[in-house]
Amino acid sequence: MQKEIKILKVRFDNVTLQEALHRALEFTKSNSQHYICTPNPEIVLAAHKNHKFLSILNRSSLNIPDGAGIIWAAKRQKTPLKSRVTGVDLMKKICKESKKRIFLLGAEEGIAEDAAKKLKANIVGTHSGSPKVEDEKEIIEKLNRLKPEILFIAYGAPAQELWIARNLKKIPSVKLAMGVGGSFDFIAGKTKRAPKWMQKLSIEWLYRLIKEPRRIKRILNATVRFPITFLKKG
Ligand code: UDP
Repeated sequence: MQKEIKILKVRFDNVTLQEALHRALEFTKSNSQHYICTPNPEIVLAAHKNHKFLSILNRSSLNIPDGAGIIWAAKRQKTPLKSRVTGVDLMKKICKESKKRIFLLGAEEGIAEDAAKKLKANIVGTHSGSPKVEDEKEIIEKLNRLKPEILFIAYGAPAQELWIARNLKKIPSVKLAMGVGGSFDFIAGKTKRAPKWMQKLSIEWLYRLIKEPRRIKRILNATVRFPITFLKKG
């Protein structure tokens, strides 16, 4: 099995959740700075049209395959991936296993605090803020005061990855940064994940469509536009 594969030009690391956790924990102990991305079909489509975003994804230390569509595409092009690894699962594992200082940035007011209480990890601070450039100075100052080693950012893609690319060097204490989309909402219990049986059948998208019908465009991107684009260009 290949260690790395590409789907529509986006690099994926062929890892299980446990292997991804091992790599992430190594990053937190290293002397250099790392970031992890969690490309799903929507992100791959966005990167297909946005070179800057594609380059940020391909320069990450680890890209986990976050979505059934990615596993399908990998199998279809005969470079199978071992398993789907979701950002929220990896984030929870890192929080459980690491003793390092963790900071939660993003999501709506109060959500990161609720997530922090549920996680029972070494969380040294939270901040809702926004991905806007105007807000960066205040956020960077707060981070440099609290000196976290791990930074989870919930601004959604591509805002969170662009934020990391602009700011990681300005926060030297951070050894591992990771954009985690709606993970704080899941952990805080604001949004519920699909039942396990739906996750196993790879129809988590159907559950999200029923619960949040306003996501229809995003769900169609993942379930219809992505496979079509992949079959044309992949
Ligand atoms: N978000 C934010 N500020 C923004 C836009 C989004 O804090 O300007 C947060 C939002 O509250 C949510 C997360 O970013 O917690 C992204 O959620 P989404 O459901 O889009 O994530 P995904 O589907 O990628 O997991």
